Amino acid sequence: MIVRATVFCCIVAVSTTAFAASKKSAAASGVSNATTSPQALAKTADSKYIKVRRGYSPPADVDRVLVVNRKGKPIKSRRAVFLRNYTVKPGDTLRTVAYRYSTSPLAVARANDIEWDPEGIDMAEGELVIVPVRYRPASGFARAVRLRTGPGVRARRKRTTWGRPYVIALLNDSFRAMHRLWPDRHPAIVGSLSRLGGGRLRPHRSHRAGRDIDIGYFTREPARKAWGVPRLDQIDYARLWFFIDRLERSGQMAAVYMSPNIQRRLHRYALTRAGADPKRLKTMFQYPCAKGARKTLIRHSRGHRDHMHIRFDSPEELAELAS
Ligand SMILES: [Zn+2]
Repeated sequence: MIVRATVFCCIVAVSTTAFAASKKSAAASGVSNATTSPQALAKTADSKYIKVRRGYSPPADVDRVLVVNRKGKPIKSRRAVFLRNYTVKPGDTLRTVAYRYSTSPLAVARANDIEWDPEGIDMAEGELVIVPVRYRPASGFARAVRLRTGPGVRARRKRTTWGRPYVIALLNDSFRAMHRLWPDRHPAIVGSLSRLGGGRLRPHRSHRAGRDIDIGYFTREPARKAWGVPRLDQIDYARLWFFIDRLERSGQMAAVYMSPNIQRRLHRYALTRAGADPKRLKTMFQYPCAKGARKTLIRHSRGHRDHMHIRFDSPEELAELAS
């Protein structure tokens, strides 16, 4: 989307690629030197991002920014990843290995030069695979994109709807597809993603790096409270399964926190009504195992009766952290 650049003292129009090329001159001139006119900006091929200093709020119609620190350099995630060797056990698939370490199948696939296949990838017992694992939470991200709200999606606070580009692209796509199929249903309600540029977002422990989102469970009718615990029979399992199934196939989901009761109903829906592959469901759902039995994509964690928490992970992001 082309950004209408109301040029403030702290905002300079740049494109990401142009930014890399003119890093020196940008640093020399500083963020306050706003010379690029909106007309010139519109002419640039890749004029998708504008530069904003962390802590400032961009205009409401701006949905892509490059967040910079005081020196005008893009802020960085902390280095937070290491590569672990894992020996494949009987019954493992790429999904089970990735979800066991709370990373995404696509990240594991890329680390091992395997092409990701949403239909599943079986692994030979005893095979050695590399699993990229985080040892401390990343915090901060420079390229920030705002979640698209509108028909079908509502956000509780617009200030905390910033995420990494790949996360927002996946979410926008899934929300749009869901709205196309069920245009008359009650809109999805989004809690928080991250603040502009990331960092601590109270009261959450995560939500720091633009890859976490809280979404209220979709309901078939407007719930009594927009953000409250819905009755189990009010939940729209058809939409819930559609949304999770679509995102999971992207290979870029790392974890979904969901209350056990809802998991059980969603599992039943997927198996009996949606005709999902039981083998794939086994790698995705903790249900019917006892709590804490094994780490799967969809897992129990306290405090997820009124919303689900989805975490994403992508190879590009891991590459950025490792460099
Ligand atoms: Zn959350």
